Amino acid sequence: MRKNSKKVRVHAGFGYDSHRFKKGRKFILGGVEIPHPKGLDGHSDADAVVHAVIDALLGAAALGDIGEHFPDSDPRYKGVDSLKLLAETRRLLGRRWDVVNVDVTVLAEVPKLGPYKNRMRAKLARVLGISVDVVNVKAKTNEGMGFVGKKEGVAVFAAASIEKK
Ligand code: MG
Repeated sequence: MRKNSKKVRVHAGFGYDSHRFKKGRKFILGGVEIPHPKGLDGHSDADAVVHAVIDALLGAAALGDIGEHFPDSDPRYKGVDSLKLLAETRRLLGRRWDVVNVDVTVLAEVPKLGPYKNRMRAKLARVLGISVDVVNVKAKTNEGMGFVGKKEGVAVFAAASIEKK
């Protein structure tokens, strides 16, 4: 018999997000405000790292996507701190799931994100109630190619795994 969802205790999820740079906005990634002449445009604080992590967690739990839970047509989410949405996502997973780990790759041509990776890890870990040791943030450029390479915006990939209690 094939393994079914009762026997499989660890589920993996994947998330992606991108936002465009815009002047006059704060640049917030992974809950960390990063000095840069432009921020990211969006209805919320446009934190693409947190949004990708939310979709990875929702994916792992088969709970749909961020747009279903936090629609950008909803005025409650205008300018919202995306870490609050991450906390709400953790509540959606509820008592049924533990978060095992989170892994993030940020594609940004500018600015250099290396100095901020550990602070992003700490923010994500704290909101999810897990150790920073199981939260990873990687940053790279896109070698000048595409919208990331042209510095039009950033793209983020995230993976998460969760375990049934
Ligand atoms: Mg987003």
